[in-house]
Amino acid sequence: MSQETYDLVVIGSGPGGYVAAIRAAQLGLRTACVEKDPTLGGTCLNVGCIPSKALLESSERFAAARLHSAEHGIKIAGVELDLPTMLGRKDKIVKQLTGGVAGLFRKHKITWAKGLGKIVAPGKVEVAGEATEVLETKRILIATGSVPATIPGVAFDGDRIGHSTHALSYPAVPEHLIVIGAGVIGLELGSVWARLGAKVTVLEYMPALLPMMDPDISKVAAKLFAKQGLDIRLGVKVTGATRKGDSVEVAYTAPDGQAQTITGDRVLVAVGRKPNTEGLGAEAVGVQLDRRGFVQVDAHYATAVPGIWAIGDVIPGPMLAHKAEEEGIAAVEQMAGLPGHVNYDAIPNIIYTHPEIASAGKTEPELKQAGVPFKKGSFPFLANARAKALGETDGLVKILAHAETDRVLGVHIIGPRAGDLIAEAAVAIEFSASAEDIARSVHAHPTLSEVVKEAALDAGGRVINI
Ligand code: FAD
Ligand code: NAD
Repeated sequence: MSQETYDLVVIGSGPGGYVAAIRAAQLGLRTACVEKDPTLGGTCLNVGCIPSKALLESSERFAAARLHSAEHGIKIAGVELDLPTMLGRKDKIVKQLTGGVAGLFRKHKITWAKGLGKIVAPGKVEVAGEATEVLETKRILIATGSVPATIPGVAFDGDRIGHSTHALSYPAVPEHLIVIGAGVIGLELGSVWARLGAKVTVLEYMPALLPMMDPDISKVAAKLFAKQGLDIRLGVKVTGATRKGDSVEVAYTAPDGQAQTITGDRVLVAVGRKPNTEGLGAEAVGVQLDRRGFVQVDAHYATAVPGIWAIGDVIPGPMLAHKAEEEGIAAVEQMAGLPGHVNYDAIPNIIYTHPEIASAGKTEPELKQAGVPFKKGSFPFLANARAKALGETDGLVKILAHAETDRVLGVHIIGPRAGDLIAEAAVAIEFSASAEDIARSVHAHPTLSEVVKEAALDAGGRVINI
């Protein structure tokens, strides 16, 4: 039994948990973080954001070397894939970053309690590691994240039928990868393996691609993905997946109601993730879960049990690393009597395909549904000098601003480095900027950011370069 009493025990060291632990230590709280996995950093650093972005970058370079160097006057003969090196590079980046979190814990004197954390009572967390100990604490923060979900009839076999973690380490390029779900993971990891040479078929339940995105953006995305050779079939209901030797037969109902099958050598199930509360003991001490298993919290991230809070993927809301981080900081600041807060209207959302897709704020259908009067401006990358120089002219920026006040309500981008460009939009929304504020701010020339400025000018009816 540990003799130490903590001010805060965080359960889970993903971007929500580890950032919360650091902020707590900065605020003078004696803090421990319980993690069951052998490395810190959670889904994001180990099997999510970071390894997927490493592979997206490598596969994009491979595709660019093969397909686009000649147009720059660079002849590269015999471009070859060295998959083990590509995967090794990804693993090295993950190792550096997870090791970095361990270093940050040492710097901030945060105790890493290794093992599975279970809340045995308010103020008591049992940690089952090499030995079992009970941490005494004034407060508990649940940051246990999420795990991959699947659908009836499709069971993970850890080999041919797998989830995103498997798709980050396939030992060879699949001949035919069948992806179930055209969401963020399906599109990102589907793109990786398509660029490396796999035939990729994506089976999506919804009748439209990326329905949560602004329609002007999803329309362009659908065309570009088709051009890249991703075979995305919409309105398809998958009913089962059966292993047949080294192949898998996926059964589905086509939009016309016909039962069909498709065979591939690997299946990536990417139909969403579910909150992770397994083995946590939360319900037994009175923490309430909603019907989908998410921990229920109030606006201050407090559960129904005094002294127990929750943040990140395990509570409702978008499953994003930066959302988890900001909630972790806000929750801890509130524990310390500070006014921690997250602006859910200004959370950027990025899909790291090529080109990237990014948004912040409301879409056009959302504004229409809410009856908010708005005006819009847009500008294509095709008319931007830097995009021309890069040879990356697909896509556009669209800005939605209030019709009367000109306040920026939503920004939607598909195009090169959309994920970096959206930062300006998030800051504009956070500061309640007007479209004119963006339009009058000096944007360096020639940069991609000028497309954002021109879209803002367009919202005011005074676009220059088109
Ligand atoms: P997690 O990161 O899931 O961390 C939870 C941690 O808690 C884990 O380490 C787990 O082992 C630990 N844990 C759970 N239960 C216990 C217990 N009882 N005791 C001890 N430890 C426990 N988001 C983005 O914003 N950008 C991206 O580019 C992006 N890419 C992604 C790519 C993929 C392939 C995936 C799968 C996800 C991606 N995400 C991305 C989502 C992002 O990873 C999550 O939103 C984020 O990790 C959530 O953080 P969290 O701290 O809430 O939980
Ligand atoms: P998702 O919710 O983005 O997409 C799941 C897709 O599967 C949806 O389009 C859904 O309609 C479809 N689907 C659901 N049931 C289906 C069925 N029976 N048959 C066919 N299609 C079906 O989920 P995901 O792609 O698994 O990603 C999980 C989470 O991880 C997401 O919430 C996302 O926010 C996060 N993530 C974020 C990033 C990023 O920020 N770039 C990258 C990867 C993952």
